[in-house]
Amino acid sequence: MANFAESSKTYVVEHLDPELEQWSALEYAAIAKESYEANAQFLLSSVPESLATNIPGVVKQSKGIKIEQRSVEEIFASQKESVCLLDPAASKELSPEDGDKFTVFLFGGILGDDPPRDRTSELRKKGYEGRRLGPVQMTTDTAVRVTRIVVQDRTPLEKIEYVDHPELKVNKHESTEMPFRYVKGKDGEPVMPEGMIDLIKNDSERGFGELL
Ligand code: SAM
Repeated sequence: MANFAESSKTYVVEHLDPELEQWSALEYAAIAKESYEANAQFLLSSVPESLATNIPGVVKQSKGIKIEQRSVEEIFASQKESVCLLDPAASKELSPEDGDKFTVFLFGGILGDDPPRDRTSELRKKGYEGRRLGPVQMTTDTAVRVTRIVVQDRTPLEKIEYVDHPELKVNKHESTEMPFRYVKGKDGEPVMPEGMIDLIKNDSERGFGELL
């Protein structure tokens, strides 16, 4: 049974892209599912009206997701000090104790890019206290997963097992390197949203400049 501290966490992804790509849809569906199972809330904020009416079924039908047109600033205007921004440029690493200090964990809803363009700076400008999840760029769903493991399961960042820059076989002859850090699953493979490997295989022709 989850205790109060565990059940009171909210993961907020502020959607910063003009579109909602299939890649993001699969990531958001995975975050919703895992948050629901961990008794946490998942809020997808700043979703423009035009997108909100067209949100892919895999996201809309996910249990435990709340889709908001308002921005994180509006929603948590009166409790800014309880919001922690997960920020690759922060000087302090996230620790299990941050689970006592913060109730809201904020992430940039942006596709990863290589090299990173620091679009998280759009959220940093708003003045939230920041924490880093180590030096390697993660996909958004991985960043939420790792945060949950640290603040809810109370596992320190450095005790989590990761897979960095995995090679994925896209067909018989070719493989491609994903330029991100993932959590290592029980089977030793990187944990990825359901359907992601097939999407990567289908999209492998397009190049991987800006995909996840
Ligand atoms: N290249 C991106 C940028 O422009 O900032 C990083 C985007 S990453 C795919 C999406 C979100 O995951 C970030 O906005 C941040 O909230 C979180 N994130 C990813 N890696 C992280 C890390 N190493 N430390 C802290 N947060 C991270």
